[in-house]
Amino acid sequence: MIKKVDHIGIAVQSLESALPFYTDILKLPLLGMEEVESEQVKVAFLQAGETKLELLEPMSKDSPIAKYIEKRGEGIHHVALGVDSIQERINEMRENGIRMIHEVPKQGAGGAQVAFMHPKATGSVLYEFCEKK
Ligand code: ZN
Repeated sequence: MIKKVDHIGIAVQSLESALPFYTDILKLPLLGMEEVESEQVKVAFLQAGETKLELLEPMSKDSPIAKYIEKRGEGIHHVALGVDSIQERINEMRENGIRMIHEVPKQGAGGAQVAFMHPKATGSVLYEFCEKK
């Protein structure tokens, strides 16, 4: 049911200051950048072999990423698991008593449908289900 780790989300204060490490030193191809209004984040995707890194910069103080950085500092924010039939996966989690932050998928970056599990249900790891058409 889980196809692969689609990407790892990394919270950064500023894409402009974080990106050169990834593009110039690690030499990872920059796949694209976009703003996700609903989450108030600016996102940059980098290809890292078979998976991707998703750098997340807060666009406002109300952004969940701004709150995350304030509490814990920059660093690994979430692990995204690539799935098919995301609503079925969500339903399976709920049947197993795993609390979901999103009980219906929402629009994420890169045209993906996404849903997050509650970290209290997963040993403090924020997991994202991610389905790309
Ligand atoms: Zn993500």
